[in-house]
Amino acid sequence: MPWMVDQRHYLDVLDPLKVERIPAPARRIAAFMGSIVEGVTAGWADPTDGCALATRCIGRVGRRRCTDRVVARIRPEGDIEWSCLTCTDFGHIHHWPETPWNLIGSGADFFPTVDVVAELEMTLAEYDAVAAIPVLDASARRVVAAGRMPDDDLVVIEAPRAWLEHLIEFIAAEANHTRRKKERALYEAVLVRADGQV
Ligand SMILES: [Zn+2]
Repeated sequence: MPWMVDQRHYLDVLDPLKVERIPAPARRIAAFMGSIVEGVTAGWADPTDGCALATRCIGRVGRRRCTDRVVARIRPEGDIEWSCLTCTDFGHIHHWPETPWNLIGSGADFFPTVDVVAELEMTLAEYDAVAAIPVLDASARRVVAAGRMPDDDLVVIEAPRAWLEHLIEFIAAEANHTRRKKERALYEAVLVRADGQV
């Protein structure tokens, strides 16, 4: 059975006054669907082409959580179609354009309209650490959401150079401020790679 969802039904998870009353499993599903909408709409490539997002599946394989990658695209009909590369989970998301998870055009006012596209590669652990930086602004969050996973432990962010540099500034600041050694090492590995790639 496919998941047929109306993304507007998840808006309560964004409301600090209401989110506490939503059961954890429902919150997890809302976050999963929201992450698919953000992933598909954040990128700079054509969102009607399928792409492997950095979103991890929440389905099950036997007793285990699946956690494989999710592929998704915007269909000509306008809904978002997604499926997991491993388990049988798949679905359609309707009414996503009118929700805050839609990142199409987000942040575009702040950056040059014509810019060289650059690529930054990360391991999954590095990517998760970057995504968890608490102070990311909306533009930096869009760059993170544009992460694609061509392979199990490889995230590639392809974005206009100024956008990538914007995210890298946040990573550099966090590498300086964090007291957690493990995170700092992950940020520094990304920064070294960014020197060569961006
Ligand atoms: Zn799955």
